[in-house]
Amino acid sequence: MPRTADAVVVGGGIVGTAIARQLARDGVDAVLVERKAFGGAVSGASLACLGTHMHSLDELEVLVESCALWRSISDELGDPFEYNRCGQLRFILREEDLPVAQRWIDGERAFGLDPELLSPEAVRDKEPLLTGPIVAASHSPGDATVNPFLAVRALLRDGGNAGLKAFANTAVTGLQMDGDRVAGVQTERGSIATGNVILAAGPWSGQLARHADLDLPLVPRQAQCVASVRQPPSIRTVVGACESAGGVESGYTQIQQAASGQILFNTVTAPAATRPGAEDRINEAPIGFVRDSIRTLTMLFPSLSEILMLRSWVRFEAVTPDDRFLAGRLPRRGLIAAAGDNGTGFCRAPVLGRLISRIVRGEAAMPADTLYAPSRFAELRA
Ligand SMILES: Cc1cc2nc3c(=O)[nH]c(=O)nc-3n(C[C@H](O)[C@H](O)[C@H](O)COP(=O)(O)OP(=O)(O)OC[C@H]3O[C@@H](n4cnc5c(N)ncnc54)[C@H](O)[C@@H]3O)c2cc1C
Repeated sequence: MPRTADAVVVGGGIVGTAIARQLARDGVDAVLVERKAFGGAVSGASLACLGTHMHSLDELEVLVESCALWRSISDELGDPFEYNRCGQLRFILREEDLPVAQRWIDGERAFGLDPELLSPEAVRDKEPLLTGPIVAASHSPGDATVNPFLAVRALLRDGGNAGLKAFANTAVTGLQMDGDRVAGVQTERGSIATGNVILAAGPWSGQLARHADLDLPLVPRQAQCVASVRQPPSIRTVVGACESAGGVESGYTQIQQAASGQILFNTVTAPAATRPGAEDRINEAPIGFVRDSIRTLTMLFPSLSEILMLRSWVRFEAVTPDDRFLAGRLPRRGLIAAAGDNGTGFCRAPVLGRLISRIVRGEAAMPADTLYAPSRFAELRA
C-alpha cells in the first residue's frame, strides 16, 4: 500500500474503475481502493446496456459521448468485454404513449442518432419472438451491451498498464481532514496521504462523506434481476419499456439474453421502498417481483412461456433527488463525488472518468460538469 498518491479513488465498481483508469492514463499517480471484490457490488450484477434512451433528453449529449467512448475502448483494447452492438427496442403498449416515444426519437435524431418508430410487424423482423400485444416500439440501432465483470477487469488491467495501483479487500475506514481540506484516507491496510479523494463508493459514498461533515443527497434503491436457465438464441436486442410504459420509478423493465444464453430480466423498486442500510445486505428478489417479471416476459414473448427460471439477485444503486449523478467537487477542498448512478452508471462511467480526471488536473469544464455538479444542491454549495 503506497503511503502517498496524487489521487485516491474509493470504490472499485465500474465508476471508480473508469475514473482510476482515466487518471492513470492522464499521468496522475492514482490509487484505487475497493473494500471487497472489484465489480462485486452492483456493477458486476448489471445488465450493462449502453444506450441513450435513459432519464432525460438533457443528458443526451453526455450519453452519446459515453456510448461512443465504450465503443472506442472496446476497439482499442481488442474487444475484451463482449461488446455487442445489438440495438434496443422500447416497447409501447398504449396508443396514447406514442407521443412520448416520438419525443425521444426526435431528440435523439437531433443528436445525429438514427432511432425509428416501428410497427409490431417491423418489430418482429428484428425480434421474431416478440409477438405480444404491443402497439409499436422505438428502435435504437446503436445501443450495445457489455459483459459487466469483464468490462471492470479490462479497465483495471488497462489502468494497471498505465501505472494505476489497485487494491481489493481493503476498506477505506475514514477520511483525514486538515481543516476544510482533505489530506488523505485511512484504510484497513494503513493510510495514504493525498490531496484528492474521489468518493465512487455507490450508495456507501454518503457514509464516507460524513467523515468530512457532509450529508450527500443519496439514497439506496433496490435493483433486481431474474435469470433463466440457458436458452437457445431467442432474444436478439435489449427490450426495454419506453419511458411512458413505466419509468424507473414505476417499475422499469429491461429484458435481454446474455452471451451465456441466460435470459435476464431487470426491474427496480422505488427508493422510498428501499430500507436505509439495505445496501449492506444482499437480499433475495421478492417473489412478487419474480412473478411480475415472468408475467411481463411471457406477455411480450408468449413462446417463452415454458422457460425455466434459475435464480434472482438484488443489488443497490445510489439515487439522487433529481435522478442525475453527483459528480464533481464537494465543498471540502480535494474531496470529489462520483456516485448517484440512478441505475445507468454503467453507461455513463467513461464520461465520468473523463470528467473527474479533468477536475483533478484542473482542466476546463465539459458538459457533464453542469449536469452533475454537486453544487446544484444548496447543502453542497461552498
Ligand atoms: C440488474 C441490474 C441491471 C442494470 N442494468 C444497467 C444497464 O443496462 N445500463 C446501465 O448503465 N446501468 C445498469 N445498471 C446500473 C449499474 O450497474 C450501476 O449504475 C453501476 O454499476 C454503478 O456503479 P458504481 O461503481 O457507482 O457502484 P458499485 O458497483 O456499487 O461500486 C461501488 C463500490 O464501492 C465499494 N465500497 C463501498 N464502500 C467502500 C469503502 N468504505 N472502501 C472501499 N470501497 C468501498 C463497494 O464495495 C463497491 O464495489 C443495472 C443494475 C442492476 C442491478
